[in-house]
Amino acid sequence: MADLLSIINPATEALIKEILVDDGAAVAEKYARARAAQPEWAVLPLADRTSPILQFRALLIERVDALAALLTSETGKPIAQARSEILAVPSRIDFFVEHAARVLAPERVYSEPVEALPGMGTLEEVIGYEPLGVIANISAWNYPYFVGGNVFIPALLMGNAVLYKPSEFATLTGGAIAALLHESGIPQDIFMAIIGTGLTGAALLDQPIDGVFFTGSYATGQKIAVAAAPKLIRVQLELGGKDPAYVCADANVATAAAGLADGAFYNNGQSCCAVERIYVHTDIYDEFLAAFMETVRGFTLGDPAAAETYLGPVSRQPQLDVLADQVADAVAKGATLRCGGQQLDRPGWYFAPTVLTEVNHTMTVMQEETFGPVIGIQRVSSDEEAVALMQDTPYGLTAAVYGTDRERAVGILRQIKTGSAYWNCCDRVSPRLPWSGRGHSGLGTTLSVAGLSTFLQPRAWHLRAE
Ligand code: NAD
Repeated sequence: MADLLSIINPATEALIKEILVDDGAAVAEKYARARAAQPEWAVLPLADRTSPILQFRALLIERVDALAALLTSETGKPIAQARSEILAVPSRIDFFVEHAARVLAPERVYSEPVEALPGMGTLEEVIGYEPLGVIANISAWNYPYFVGGNVFIPALLMGNAVLYKPSEFATLTGGAIAALLHESGIPQDIFMAIIGTGLTGAALLDQPIDGVFFTGSYATGQKIAVAAAPKLIRVQLELGGKDPAYVCADANVATAAAGLADGAFYNNGQSCCAVERIYVHTDIYDEFLAAFMETVRGFTLGDPAAAETYLGPVSRQPQLDVLADQVADAVAKGATLRCGGQQLDRPGWYFAPTVLTEVNHTMTVMQEETFGPVIGIQRVSSDEEAVALMQDTPYGLTAAVYGTDRERAVGILRQIKTGSAYWNCCDRVSPRLPWSGRGHSGLGTTLSVAGLSTFLQPRAWHLRAE
């Protein structure tokens, strides 16, 4: 008998549902269906692939209340943030739809006049663009609409079939996305949800897929890369981060404190680009810390289904131990616990919003991805010291600098190896800009025009008319 996956509500610890997992045979069967269906999908006029995506866009808006409630129930994401995530997908779809035709259009790069080759006819060289074929989209739970949609929407538009493995912690949402796409007119066999844990993800990688687009942790990303290597297929990895922010001596303290508190605690700190460590110039350190603490104290913690809730439970129970261990390690090594520090004494996986100061880089909280409502704030005495500390990580997703001098901020950011650089903002993603990581933060690019062409492969056409 096939395994069952238990879906638990992180806010109440109640069982929501048990769902049948796709075993190896089911995964192989879905793969075969996708393989058979993909060629027909790829040769459709672009308009015929675009119209179901636009219908999906409309349904996301129409059904936002139910979809957000479902996402909140299985991840604990505060309902206002679940709604914001879903309602931000349409602008990403608009970007992809606007640029799809241009990216798919063949390019004539050379054309030789008749007289250049007497008796040989004319020669044309054309670059054509073809979909990869059947791709695997193995996804994370923290922003299923964003990180999934950044892959499956452009992949479908470009003519690929998608085998979508939602995270086991966002399975109901994965099923809802599949149902919505099918209702919108995407053929059943062109987009399929593959249900299960990492074992199911591994079974998916056993299939002769043409590409794997993964969002998740560095540890799993490595396994994906190893499994995909013998296939020599396209591998894209959007992984974790230890994203630093630096507040310069000339920063607007109120703006920086409010922006960085939100960047650290939005979605309970469970964002790939969450602010994970903060460095503050000593000249404004006390003022900044007071403003930061005031913002954190103002956050409303509670039932994620309530409209006013800003902080809910963390989505996975084992993460509570990771957070407690990071706090204990920091305090043992001399950090000051300004607030929080432990799980809350109530049902659900709630961890109190936690601020640590007098931290340093011997502590795990400043070195390893925290992925929860815990932040370390370190005092620095120069830009150079801040740069050295910001660079002290194998990750490279984003970095932020707050300060009034753009040239100085850009100069600092140029020295930090990250895919995204923020001046006076943080924890921000735009469909117009490439989303990528350096080092342990990943490989490849989603979003922007590059996030469309990554689902294509070029073909060289040498065309001689006799
Ligand atoms: P995870 O690595 O635990 O799991 C991600 C997915 O991989 C899940 O669907 C899981 O079932 C699957 N998986 C696990 N083992 C597998 C295996 N051996 N083979 C195939 N699939 C396997 O990550 P998570 O907890 O879901 O997500 C959190 C992580 O994702 C954090 O590190 C976060 O920073 C990162 N993330 C990065 C981005 C980005 O854009 N860079 C965005 C969101 C999340």
